[in-house]
Amino acid sequence: MQYQRSSTLFKQAKKVIPGGVNSPVRAFNAVGGTPIFLTHAKGAYLYDEDQNRYIDFIASWGPMILGHAHPKVVAAIQARAEKGTSYGIPTALETEIAERALSMVPYMDQIRFVNSGTEACMSAVRLARGFTGRDKIIKFAGCYHGHADAFLIQAGSGAITFGSPNSPGVTAGTAKDTLLAAYNNLEHVNEIFRANPEQIAAIIVEPVAGNMGCILPQVGFLEGLRSLCDAHGAILIFDEVMTGFRLAQGGAQECLGVRADLVTYGKVIGGGLPVGAFAARKEIMDFLAPLGPVYQAGTLSGNPLAMTAGLTMLNLLHAHPETYTSLADKTALLHREMIPLLEEKGLPYQINRLGSMMSLHFTDTPVVDFETAAKGNNDYFKKYFHGMLKFGVYLPPSAFESYFLNDAISQKDLEHTLEAFSETIKAL
Ligand SMILES: *Cc1c(COP(=O)(O)O)cnc(C)c1O
Repeated sequence: MQYQRSSTLFKQAKKVIPGGVNSPVRAFNAVGGTPIFLTHAKGAYLYDEDQNRYIDFIASWGPMILGHAHPKVVAAIQARAEKGTSYGIPTALETEIAERALSMVPYMDQIRFVNSGTEACMSAVRLARGFTGRDKIIKFAGCYHGHADAFLIQAGSGAITFGSPNSPGVTAGTAKDTLLAAYNNLEHVNEIFRANPEQIAAIIVEPVAGNMGCILPQVGFLEGLRSLCDAHGAILIFDEVMTGFRLAQGGAQECLGVRADLVTYGKVIGGGLPVGAFAARKEIMDFLAPLGPVYQAGTLSGNPLAMTAGLTMLNLLHAHPETYTSLADKTALLHREMIPLLEEKGLPYQINRLGSMMSLHFTDTPVVDFETAAKGNNDYFKKYFHGMLKFGVYLPPSAFESYFLNDAISQKDLEHTLEAFSETIKAL
């Protein structure tokens, strides 16, 4: 494959955009090489500036669950754009998408729309703090909740982990209110509660982690977080920005049968336009401005263009629940067929999968948290990523990201992917 034009465009971009990209993972830092620049995408395929075509396994990191440029979503966006794209004044559309979203997810009474997953998580934490009157939150190492200051925290030293900033610009004052626990480690969470009595406002967790590869909650983990929150009067926040409307209509809450108090959404809910949202029962949402004291706002929040894209996407998923079985079957097929090829080559590997999320780590150790995810062999991963790319298969360009299947991927695409996989693995 040729990447000449992409390479030229990347050089040009680097002059005017830091690192040439508007979000770091796109720069291929984890895998090396030059990021491809796209001209367009349709269905399961990405098309780049050098006339290469790729089967897409990231779906814009989740949103394009039905494939790119879905005709119904495109038509709805086009029709809506004619009528103006933002007013800063309410529309009936906002109520319609709120009703549709709430009809699909369990336990939630009200929802507020914002413009990104970051905004949703940041607002949810503020609301949980306002509601409980407490300052501290617990987050898990390796879980991503967007780039708000409170989440850019790494493990500090000491037995009970106080967070320390993992990005310059995050103050020590902010970091001290984020306590870090290991994913799937209930005892650790319990210790943190004991060490900070009546101080924990909320636990925020990816109910299925998708930002350190795909990591499933072990049996009893989410249930345990639920009980600890109940016992200590803390709010359980599920960050379903990735899993919401992807693992099931009702996301992880439905799929895994655990109730959260506050849930954040993003990605699929915007149908490919910038949308985030957070939902909770009425008692909690009543704390938000203009009804309550917790301030939260947005000029472009609920704008008719984004709401139209999101509503059309949710309506399609609502009308076609079989999408979820189809996606899970396709992902399971990949998983199943990859195993003998990895075994034959004798490579260390772990494949984690739930529904249409999956990841492959090159390690013998089961991947259950950030520490074990970090054990993956990154040299293998880099070669694997570039090998697949040469065969026209676009995987997430980092071992710490999950694959997201889209339902436009056909049986034939899967066969091609497995052929590419077979050749690539043999050559590792
Ligand atoms: C992507 C993601 C976010 C951040 O969403 P943005 O729209 O990128 O701000 C937050 N939480 C999770 C779980 C995500 O996967």
